[in-house]
Amino acid sequence: MQHATSPEGENSCDQPPPSSTLTVEQNPSTGVLSSVAARLPEVADWSDWRWQVRNRVRRVSQLKTLFPDLDIAGVAEATARFPMAITPYYASLIQRCDNTDPIFRMSVPQMEELIEPVCLSDDPLEEDADMPIPGLVHRYTDRALLIATTMCSMYCRHCTRKRVAGHRESGITPARLKQVTRYLTEHPEIHDVIVSGGDPFTLPTQALESILSAIRSVPTVDIIRVGTRTPVVMPMRITDELVTMLRRYHPVYVNTHFNHPAELTPAAVEACTRLADAGIPMGNQTVLLKGVNDDPVVMETLCRGLVRMRVRPYYMFQCDLVRGVEHFRTPLTRGIEIMEYLRGRLSGLAIPSFVVDAPHGGGKIPVSPNYIVSMSPTHTVLRNFEGMLVAYPEPGLHGRGGTVGRQASDESAPGVWELSSGNYSKIQPQNTVRHARRQRGIPEQRQGELTL
Ligand code: SF4
Repeated sequence: MQHATSPEGENSCDQPPPSSTLTVEQNPSTGVLSSVAARLPEVADWSDWRWQVRNRVRRVSQLKTLFPDLDIAGVAEATARFPMAITPYYASLIQRCDNTDPIFRMSVPQMEELIEPVCLSDDPLEEDADMPIPGLVHRYTDRALLIATTMCSMYCRHCTRKRVAGHRESGITPARLKQVTRYLTEHPEIHDVIVSGGDPFTLPTQALESILSAIRSVPTVDIIRVGTRTPVVMPMRITDELVTMLRRYHPVYVNTHFNHPAELTPAAVEACTRLADAGIPMGNQTVLLKGVNDDPVVMETLCRGLVRMRVRPYYMFQCDLVRGVEHFRTPLTRGIEIMEYLRGRLSGLAIPSFVVDAPHGGGKIPVSPNYIVSMSPTHTVLRNFEGMLVAYPEPGLHGRGGTVGRQASDESAPGVWELSSGNYSKIQPQNTVRHARRQRGIPEQRQGELTL
């Protein structure tokens, strides 16, 4: 795992932000940044996830101890409205005590959380209205989402379930779990159950096993997915014990939530490796966040890093219209711009789908740059990432609608109409890297050679 390093080599509130966006230097034995470690009560149990939970930063006074130069104006008010918790591990990734630091921005409460434009609400996805049983969201016919706990090890400032997460830290009761199991049994159309929260991996392994085992007892449930940010904010929780338990309930998928390349630490890689080695397919759901990852290069770096650790970039979400996240929202056009940048640079395997989780419970709506330029009954004109236009003929034309395959020439430069009517098959920009490579040509002795 490669990290660019800050000139100071440790987090600092006094220093100007370094020019590099990816700055992590860790103590190789503990993974703790030295200045944070010095202010923590003890680090002997750093790798024990229970220690991480016990030592979460929950109060402004603790934050002040860790970051003495922090300007705490507004932090207390925001914390009173939306709970704070930061694991020592995640706090150790903070390089600068201000909003230019992505980890800081995602974890430390800000005054801006109290901005309340009328378009925001506590439950914009109207999950509560789609709960036949408290805690079980049944929106799409074949899927259901279970809020297994309201606890997370870290309360993300951009959380879509700010109305639930952390206000009261509790797990699902056995009685409620019975109700859920009965509902799943009575609804055989549900084939996919997402265990979410809160963060299910904050539950003791045995408690999580009771939930998985209850869901698995319903024969019509095909797959179980666990939605968790634990590999990002408390990777030491991915223990052999947890992974061994998960394996008993296959097919189990894990969807996690990395938002920035600075989160791809050696500890996070190790956690994901454990899960992947247990045969658990992993996906990542990123939220597009202003000042964190609303930058094409940051997103490209994140996606490349994720596939290296066998985590498939799955969704890139437009920020939901949740109360308390206005300062994270980006224009929809920013997401489209980022998708335009990624396409052609990254393999499809590394490109997430950009989706808007629609207000009023409308569900996920994919949004992408427009690749269809024109359509006629005979041809669709498509654009690729380079700006090349190609005509795709409908089946059964048999030569109708022009001579498919005829090339554009300088003498009669074609337009989109000629493509959609089938008189030309492509318009090719001349100054692309690929075009230059083709112009250089393939050496004569290799032409026609396909032997590998
Ligand atoms: S881990 Fe998930 S549920 Fe918990 S605060 Fe973060 S985004 Fe919200």
